[in-house]
Amino acid sequence: MSIVIVGAGLAGATAATELREQGHTGPIVLLGSEEHPPYERPPLSKSYLLGEDPFEKALVHPREWYAEHDVDLRLGVTATGLDTDAHVVTTSDGDVPYERLLLATGAEPRVLDVAEDAGVPVAYLRTKDDSDRLREAFAKGRKVVVVGGGWIGLEAAAAARQAGAEVTLYETEDLPLVHVLGPTVAQVFADLHREHGVQLRLGTEVTAEHLEGADLVVAGIGVKPRVDLAHSGGLDVDNGVLVDSRLRTSVPSVLAVGDIANHAHPRLGRRIRVEHWDTAIKQAKVAAHNLAGGDEEYEEMPYFFTDQYDLGMEYVGSASEDDEVVVHGSLEDREFRAFWLRDGDVVAAMHVNDWDAGDVIKEAVDSGELPEDESD
Ligand code: FAD
Ligand code: NAP
Repeated sequence: MSIVIVGAGLAGATAATELREQGHTGPIVLLGSEEHPPYERPPLSKSYLLGEDPFEKALVHPREWYAEHDVDLRLGVTATGLDTDAHVVTTSDGDVPYERLLLATGAEPRVLDVAEDAGVPVAYLRTKDDSDRLREAFAKGRKVVVVGGGWIGLEAAAAARQAGAEVTLYETEDLPLVHVLGPTVAQVFADLHREHGVQLRLGTEVTAEHLEGADLVVAGIGVKPRVDLAHSGGLDVDNGVLVDSRLRTSVPSVLAVGDIANHAHPRLGRRIRVEHWDTAIKQAKVAAHNLAGGDEEYEEMPYFFTDQYDLGMEYVGSASEDDEVVVHGSLEDREFRAFWLRDGDVVAAMHVNDWDAGDVIKEAVDSGELPEDESD
């Protein structure tokens, strides 16, 4: 059976790997618009951006792995159309027939209109080439304006400060990350950045005047799923490609995973589209199994991590900013565990700089039970 994977990012490359590891012997074509072999994005805003790690460390596999495993990796090739009746993907390099198709086209940054309209130099951070541009621009004394207090904004601000740049960050909400972490924990991130010299302009809609005089504006105002191909194939799309619990789209021979997949999550009992590294990997493994004839549901809880200055954290589950939060440990010392409760059940948990807590937070979310406070 021939399998075509569109999107040579983390999810696409993981699916190809898993198919071979599971013993699939049929043809696998992996199509990617970028010229680089598949790589992981987290280092682009952390160790690679800081110049601590080479790009090779971010690669999913060395370039030669694909030929060695008979995976037909076609780089610099964009899929432009999909005919699910004829089972053909149209690409910039000709038609590619398939028996089963996996869409893993990821997401792309939202454009910051106010900067584009004002003609100020604006950068986004999604690809290796974007990260190279920031690395060049972040230098002592440079005036960097960051727009967006989400993950990209905060990690880019940390990297820019560590390179000695002057950083001002604009966020429309009163705290960065408040929709993800709620006010108590979001405050920790605001304090962290202020202490490291970032000028936080919170509760502020950025205007062209705010951007005047900046050497570079970095926009981190969220991403949109790349769904053009799914649209062209007539698949059901609503905030990403709609997939069932088994990652199948509205056309059963086509599956979708990673940042584009709006998944009917069996444990959460609702749809969720997760834009994180761990989900891209784990969904790809289940999709590989199902592409090869399996019938597995994807039921992992969302998981993500960040590194900013000397703060590292891991988060499991899915809470909203209105859920009650219980903290074990010290917010001031930035060493704690946080548990979000809804109707008495733990729905999400995280730790900050407490690396023994990984299993505890996972177990709390799996069981729904608040653990003992070990910090007392
Ligand atoms: P992508 O990584 O977006 O890959 C999709 C690929 O498909 C791209 O290479 C694209 O060029 C290609 N493509 C798209 N359309 C087509 C087409 N029509 N034809 C051919 N190719 C196509 N998550 C965490 O959990 N922790 C982190 O610390 C973290 N840090 C991050 C740092 C940065 C700078 C960024 C950008 C993201 C970070 N993330 C992090 C998020 C994580 O990287 C994403 O969730 C993950 O990359 C999603 O993988 P994906 O394969 O679904 O999509
Ligand atoms: P994000 O996490 O969705 O955050 C975007 C932030 O920008 C939000 O705080 C948002 O506020 C704010 N915003 C939106 N429009 C704005 C505007 N016009 N002016 C000022 N602020 C505005 O997205 P991101 O930070 O751009 O990251 C992009 C993707 O990379 C995401 O998928 C993210 O998960 C991923 N990523 C993850 C990590 C990690 O897990 N550590 C690291 C880097 C990147 P509202 O919430 O109010 O809209």
